[in-house]
Amino acid sequence: MNAIHLKKGFSPRIAGAPARQLRQLDAPRHVGMVPEHIPFIKPRLLVEEGDSVAIGSPLFEDKRNIRIRFLSPGGGQVARIVFGPRRIIRQIVIALDNDERCEFFDVPTVEQLDTIPRTALVEMLLNGGMWPFLRALPFMDLADPDTVPPAIIVRLGDDEPFGPDPVVYLKGREDLFGIGIDLLNKLCDRVVVNLTGDEAILPALPDQTVTHRFTGHYPSGNPSVQLYRTKTGPEQNRSWFIDGQDVILLGEFIRTGRYPVQRIMSVGGSLAPAAEHVSTRAGVPLRQLCGGGLAGRPARRYVVGGVFTGFTGSADSFVGFYQNALNLIDDGDWEEPFGFIRPGYNKPSYSTAFLSTFHRKPFPMDCGQHGEARACVNCGTCATVCPVDILPQFTMKCLVADEVEEALAHGLLDCAECGLCTYACPSKIELREVFRSAKAQYYKEIA
Ligand code: SF4
Ligand code: SF4
Repeated sequence: MNAIHLKKGFSPRIAGAPARQLRQLDAPRHVGMVPEHIPFIKPRLLVEEGDSVAIGSPLFEDKRNIRIRFLSPGGGQVARIVFGPRRIIRQIVIALDNDERCEFFDVPTVEQLDTIPRTALVEMLLNGGMWPFLRALPFMDLADPDTVPPAIIVRLGDDEPFGPDPVVYLKGREDLFGIGIDLLNKLCDRVVVNLTGDEAILPALPDQTVTHRFTGHYPSGNPSVQLYRTKTGPEQNRSWFIDGQDVILLGEFIRTGRYPVQRIMSVGGSLAPAAEHVSTRAGVPLRQLCGGGLAGRPARRYVVGGVFTGFTGSADSFVGFYQNALNLIDDGDWEEPFGFIRPGYNKPSYSTAFLSTFHRKPFPMDCGQHGEARACVNCGTCATVCPVDILPQFTMKCLVADEVEEALAHGLLDCAECGLCTYACPSKIELREVFRSAKAQYYKEIA
């Protein structure tokens, strides 16, 4: 196993890390899908309101490749389909039956995995709705079923505040993880399993399963950063990646022949009623995930996913397809009188100008910018924290001047979209958003 220590980056001290205890959440009465938060797809609905669906029934397909389908995480009736502007599909809500029906798929036994041709495995994953768990770098779009990637990166542990801990989600499911890894080995000759975090997990896994152990600052658990640190040539830039918990789902799919809906999720952030891990199911309503304890408390933010890269939800929305975390933090939309002369005892910040820099304790984080946006002052802070050695300030200026080729030469496509430069920038410039949308625009053009 190779050990890689990430010196660049930054680990903000944020309060509300989920404890490792696991609580079983009550069964929800509704589950939902939020297609608008699946990057790049063009969803075409395969159901209408009132339709009856089983666990594993197709709900929508990607128009760009109709072999890629997204399946229902629940059995019952399609209660609601919510559209947004230009008829984007916001939510598909399923009212669950007491006695949920379930689709079964033709899957090989674990022993047969060795003898099945790769093309048959790909078709099996496409039919069983498991394919979308595989995504391709550097754009993080769905993997192309007609290509063979140079490598598949398995991210075992996400160090963004606050994702599920692999120590929790692997416990008792190590065998399913092993089956998932066997399956990935049939799809590609090079499977890289990157552990970020607690090495106490290692004895539970077969020898040689983990190929790299990343330590150091956030975002050492980001697959783009891991690729940047481990790749041996530019041909590996188009590697695929998959989250460790989704590898367990692959194993469960092979073992049961059913579309797996059970998930281990983390609930964290300084306003979480209880920062913990919960066992629940895909598409659970956010209100239920956080214990329903938010009613009447204003100025709260539901961040689905990590606090740097997640999206904003509401009590009435649902967990996204790729997110297994909910963070509850304050909106931070208040004025701080004479904030510029306050010593900042309790302010989490990259800047050492605040007295909080002398504390080791975690601080509550909120969404406030704590200052006005202004022009770049060329302080170089963003370059200091960037884990993939981009010079974000110059790359951003190239993009503002429409010099895309020069931004690419600066390493735009290596950007891991980790959000650290935005967090650290004293001028409050939304660098991550600039890079994310520039990458997406470039991808659409070359596609
Ligand atoms: S951190 Fe912000 S102000 Fe400083 S160089 Fe980077 S973009 Fe400019
Ligand atoms: S440019 Fe910003 S968002 Fe991109 S990898 Fe560097 S720090 Fe992260």
